[in-house]
Amino acid sequence: MTINKRRRTSIVQAGIGTDKAHKAVMPPIYLTSTFEIDGLGKKAPYEYSRTRNPTRDELANAVTALEGGIGTCVTSSGMAALTLIIHLLNPDDLLIAPYDCYGRSYRMLCALSEKGHFKLEFIDQYDAAAVKEAFTKKPKMVLIESPSNPVMRIADIASIAAQAKECGAITVCDNTFLSPMLQQPLSLGADISYHSTTKFLNGHTDIVGGCVTTSREDILTDLEFWANSLGLIGAPFDSYMTLRGMRTLELRVHRAQENAEQIATMLDQHKNVRAVYYPGLKSHPGHEIAAKQQDGFGAMISFEIDAPAEKAAAFIDALELFRLAQSLGGTESLINHPASMTHVSMGAEARAKAGVTDQLFRLSIGVEHIEDLLADLEHALAQVA
Ligand code: PLP
Repeated sequence: MTINKRRRTSIVQAGIGTDKAHKAVMPPIYLTSTFEIDGLGKKAPYEYSRTRNPTRDELANAVTALEGGIGTCVTSSGMAALTLIIHLLNPDDLLIAPYDCYGRSYRMLCALSEKGHFKLEFIDQYDAAAVKEAFTKKPKMVLIESPSNPVMRIADIASIAAQAKECGAITVCDNTFLSPMLQQPLSLGADISYHSTTKFLNGHTDIVGGCVTTSREDILTDLEFWANSLGLIGAPFDSYMTLRGMRTLELRVHRAQENAEQIATMLDQHKNVRAVYYPGLKSHPGHEIAAKQQDGFGAMISFEIDAPAEKAAAFIDALELFRLAQSLGGTESLINHPASMTHVSMGAEARAKAGVTDQLFRLSIGVEHIEDLLADLEHALAQVA
């Protein structure tokens, strides 16, 4: 019998039983830069690790199965994943991107378009008229980040992808904030889904990595060419660690999400909080679209304290469990101050437009006991009164 594996089964079983040499249950890690060739003129599946490596392939296959694609390129970081994707563009091609995307993506896109690598326009993807208008300019690629980092706006992926298809544009979705357990952009019509695997996919805050998955053969051929030519590839050790972390993806994501739902509700009712950005709240403007296109609301929450910006330090200093750090998606809870950390490189004007105020904090909710997380936040919030 051949079991048509569900996603949880496919990731737990990824690569198991592939070691023909010693029958190791877990697939071994291939720490080698090169492979011996059988003889002059002979071809082998593995020849040089920049081009292909078995450990990287195990991770790529596992991500492809989760995302429902036809192939994946594993890269050295999330930024390397975006770098790889934008190599599909030529200098005259127009890329449309959300004005409130991850700050470092924003910075890289601006810097490369200024150098003439492609044309760039930032738009408001949450405004249907603005999206329609942008497509009249015949873009070659549209970049979506949903939920967006950090204010958790929700773009209608299926609608944008359908409009892109009509004008021949490639739809790319940054799926970092949810992971394929909670959102599968390819099934909504996107051509490419990519991740900073540094986050939920690896899930243990101990590597930096990225991946790009596509549903199209022509795109996969181009991505593989550029990944190899530019050397934008993930290391075997990091690939091994990421696959190891991914085996518990579903358990981690669901526990963190349960915690996040309770924390968002507490923050929403707290007198020292003036706004909460969590798509699971019915008051969130993207709630309905999120409920339609996601399999859950995720473990990321942003909120603004109802206090002068000078109180931000007292709030942070009072926290014991939430560590002040960049990154997200690990088993441990983290807090980030986007205006001075992840989004500082956007500049004040772009930050104001994107809703990144000095009172805004972003939480990455971990899998700790919910009562401890609530107690930590409630104690710290009492300091801003
Ligand atoms: N995309 C999003 C939404 C992110 O939050 C990040 C990093 O925080 C990246 C991309 C970049 O990933 P990396 O730090 O692995 O290069």
